Amino acid sequence: MPTYNIWTIGCQMNKAESERIAAGLEERGYKASKSVNDADLIVLNSCVVRQSAEDKVVNKLHDIRHLKKEKPELLLALTGCMVDSDIKPLKKKFPFIDYLFKAGEYPPWLEKTEEITLPLKPTPSVYISISQGCDNFCAYCIVPYRRGRERSRPMEEIICEAEELARRGAKEIVLLGQNVDSYGHDLPGKPDLADLLKELNGVEGLKRLRFLTNHPKDMSDKLISAIAVLDKVCEHINLPIQAGSDEILKAMNRGYTAAQYLKLVEKIRKKILHNAITTDIIVGFPGETEKHFKETLDLLSKVKFDTVHVAAYSVREGTKAARELEDDVPLKEKKARLNRVEALQEKVQSAINSRLMDKAVEILVEGKNKGKWYGRTRTDKLVFFQSDKNHLGQAVHVKIDKTSAWSLQGIIK
Ligand code: SAH
Ligand code: SF4
Repeated sequence: MPTYNIWTIGCQMNKAESERIAAGLEERGYKASKSVNDADLIVLNSCVVRQSAEDKVVNKLHDIRHLKKEKPELLLALTGCMVDSDIKPLKKKFPFIDYLFKAGEYPPWLEKTEEITLPLKPTPSVYISISQGCDNFCAYCIVPYRRGRERSRPMEEIICEAEELARRGAKEIVLLGQNVDSYGHDLPGKPDLADLLKELNGVEGLKRLRFLTNHPKDMSDKLISAIAVLDKVCEHINLPIQAGSDEILKAMNRGYTAAQYLKLVEKIRKKILHNAITTDIIVGFPGETEKHFKETLDLLSKVKFDTVHVAAYSVREGTKAARELEDDVPLKEKKARLNRVEALQEKVQSAINSRLMDKAVEILVEGKNKGKWYGRTRTDKLVFFQSDKNHLGQAVHVKIDKTSAWSLQGIIK
């Protein structure tokens, strides 16, 4: 029986696609190999959103080139955002790759099948992509160039898939899109994310629904109300701000000001009880001065996010920023700013999480690690607890007795 191994780097979208590639391979008689070394087919699911990710993919490709020298029959497939529409340059650079297919597309060996490939064994939490691509063209971002224009999947198809996953044991579904707030604008009748959530809220067996990523320029009042009202929809909103300075936001082509963002946060916090808001920040975008950066720090202090994903700006060839702006913040300064965001955020998170001390929270148990069960609260906080029973996939209540900036611990009730 042929064996496969999939190596994945990057966002949840890549993870979701790798799960489906694995399922498609198993349907065709492949078995997962124990390690890369004993696979007959290796699939690399790549990310090029930053240079650091791209470097890791290139290193991996070279490792496999060596492996192929010892084992010439080994097949190698590359997918993910490294694969551009024009595959010639990649083929020339890495001639030892056997298959190249774009992110979100079917691998060549699945070409003739039209069925939807579902993840193999649903874990309690499963991803479903609701749209592909992005129309926003933020100045720094390569995603629209690699994943193409935004295409929404029909609502009925997503609902069918969610029902099937729930039948197979999934308890939580995480809806994925580069901009979930513009879901449906290209579909007949223009359904939106709120409509989709309302339908999915009725799927039997599911306990929770999540969705990411929201775009501050597109998040509607209708969606905020849907989150507030629908019982399965978790009160966690990932709302990337990227920068706190209007000048930088404009240069990034984000389509909102810091004041508009703050207003949106205020609205969310007023309408949705016990919510968590998380964000993404880029430091060292071209032209970002100390003054601009301080505006980001001020905004972080003001909003007090539950989590911040911070990255140093990385030039991506082909983007507007790469074409028109000079990468003028030295790497050392970018790293210093990144550390300042992380230091501030650690304090903010410690304070937010400490408020959960002695409180009972509902968590959906996702697995066991080093003898401890773990799961997440509806607000996406990681919680550990000990128990000899099997709690996988259960929603349990845990009383928190230890908190830190990164996770919580408690006793099952
Ligand atoms: N569609 C989502 C996610 C896009 S990529 C959104 O709009 O937020 C995920 C994150 O990577 C972005 O939020 C951004 O913070 C970061 N990112 C994207 N391009 C980058 C670049 N060129 N340099 C550094 N970080 C980048
Ligand atoms: Fe990239 Fe902006 Fe689209 Fe997000 S919204 S994928 S950051 S272009």
